[in-house]
Formats: sequence, C-alpha cells, structure tokens
Amino acid sequence: MKSMSSNPKERIKLVTINGDLMPLKEAKVSITAPGLSYAALVFEGIRAYWNQDHKQLYVFRLEDHLNRFINSMKLLKFIDYPNVLSIKSDILTNIQANDYKEDIYIRLQGYIDDWGEMAVRTPVSTSIVSYPRPRAVAFSEGKNFTISSWQRLDDNASPPRIKASANYLNSRLASIQAKESGYDGGIMLGPNGKVSEGPGGCIFLVRNGNIITPSITSGILESITRDSILKITKKLKLKVQTREVDRTELYIADEIFYCGTGQEIMPILSVDKMLAGDGKPGKFTKILQNEFTEIVRGNNSNFENWTTATYQK
Ligand code: PMP
Repeated sequence: MKSMSSNPKERIKLVTINGDLMPLKEAKVSITAPGLSYAALVFEGIRAYWNQDHKQLYVFRLEDHLNRFINSMKLLKFIDYPNVLSIKSDILTNIQANDYKEDIYIRLQGYIDDWGEMAVRTPVSTSIVSYPRPRAVAFSEGKNFTISSWQRLDDNASPPRIKASANYLNSRLASIQAKESGYDGGIMLGPNGKVSEGPGGCIFLVRNGNIITPSITSGILESITRDSILKITKKLKLKVQTREVDRTELYIADEIFYCGTGQEIMPILSVDKMLAGDGKPGKFTKILQNEFTEIVRGNNSNFENWTTATYQK
C-alpha cells in the first residue's frame, strides 16, 4: 500500500472546473483571464467534518456559503453564473469523487474567465478544490495577536462584505506585518478607529459575562462562523452584544477568540502582550468550542439543518 502523503495537495484526486472533474495538473486558467489580471474573483472556504459513528461527511452550512457566494458575484456585477443548486451538486460530486473519509476544506471560486478589460462581467467560470484539513493545533493552544497599523477596508471603497480575493491584499499586509513583528496575527481597526476584524476571521471578546462582537456594519465579512456563534449563544441563553468595540476593550477583556471556517473558534491569549484574562483559553470560549464541535459533526439535532450529508446511505 502507498503511504499517505502529509502534503494535502498530493491527496487530491480530482478538482472541478465548470462542473467537469479533472486531475489538478490539468486544471488551468488563462493568463489573460480578468479573474487573474484584475482580481475579478470571489470565493468561499467551506469545511466538511467526518463523523466516524455515522460514517458520514457533513458539509457545514453549505447553502449559507453558496448564498454568500452568489451575493459576492452579484455585488461584483458578474452575469450568467450558475445557480446555488448546480454549484451544490458540483461540490457534493467533487467530494464523492475524492472519496474523503476525514475532515476536509473546500475552496470554491467564481471568476471572470477568458479575456477582457477591467469591467467585463462575463464569462464566469467556477472551480472547486477540496483537500484534507484537520483541526488547527491553535484551536486548543490559542494564539497571540497585535493591533495592526493597517486600517481595515471600508464598505465605500472595497466592501469587505464581498468575499473577493482583491480584499485579501488588506489581509495579507496585516498578516505579514503581524508575523514579522513576532505575533501570530493582527486585528485591524476600521476608518472610525473601532475594532473591525482579523485578516481571515472575526473577533469576539468577553467582558463581565457578556459575549461581544463588532456589528455587521464594522467593515467585516458576514462570517458564517460568527453568525453560528451568535445563534448558539442565543440557544444557550448566554448574554451577547453586537456593537462598536474599542481597541482598549481588547486589552482588558476576560477572554478573546477568533472565528472563521479555517480557525473555527480559536482562543486569542493576548493582544499587544496584554493577556486576555489569565492568558489561557477562557470558560465561554471552551463552552462554545464544545458546542460547535458537536454541531458541525452532526451530533446536535437542534442544528441538523446546518449539516449536509455527502454520502448516500
Ligand atoms: N473575515 C474574513 C476577512 C475572512 O476571510 C473570514 C474567513 N472566510 C472570516 C471573516 C470568517 O468567515 P466564515 O466564518 O464565513 O469563514
């Protein structure tokens, strides 16, 4: 038997372009495509979780990701793109073709293909790449953040609500700056000086038993994990506030965590070397992590409409 590669790329059997399955090395994009030359590209990062007892792979909030994907294409004025049902079917077919029986990550892209100037709106191509991705070590260990000197994008310039690759220039600058300064990540402030979000995830903090997150109009991506956490806190009858957050609130918070499809719910242990609580993953963070883990693996019937089973029984 061939040994399993630790490089997830080598474990990909097939990727999908415009509904067609093919090996990764055959999946090409033209150097003249506006998706490349003008970053006319939107995407989604989606996770699917393996449940060994159910022998099932559950895609987390697939339709919500697809609705956001369609909204991103709408806002970038793409035309003639496939609908939710056909992309959903392509994603499930892609996973089945790779026959994954472990946690995976799915990268869906929609981009202007072929050739054309900056403002062309068609043709739209889609691509799907799925690969094994276990939970990050930082889920239990946490990370140390700083406040970035890069300002978060603004809705009137380059709307963060659009999950466009072009917006990740801002994230990339903040991320590299934080790492070069010896931190794991950077939290960006908006043009109004209030806390916005990190390069690839949203921010929550806990103060005096209140779970707080910047509001949806604070220059953030409309995160599906953030929305899940808000709905879970409601179900658990925890106290929650969505509002403007000051930078100094992070320095005196009892707990802070980062959230997103990649990070799931990840403790932030300190910001600018100021410890959150005692600098260890906090009580509410752990409660939410445990609840989230059960939900995404299809073990909580209250939230079973959030999980899409990949394999037919
Ligand atoms: N903000 C940004 C800038 C992101 O890139 C992500 C990751 N997609 C998130 C927030 C979290 O969004 P979601 O929970 O939908 O993955």
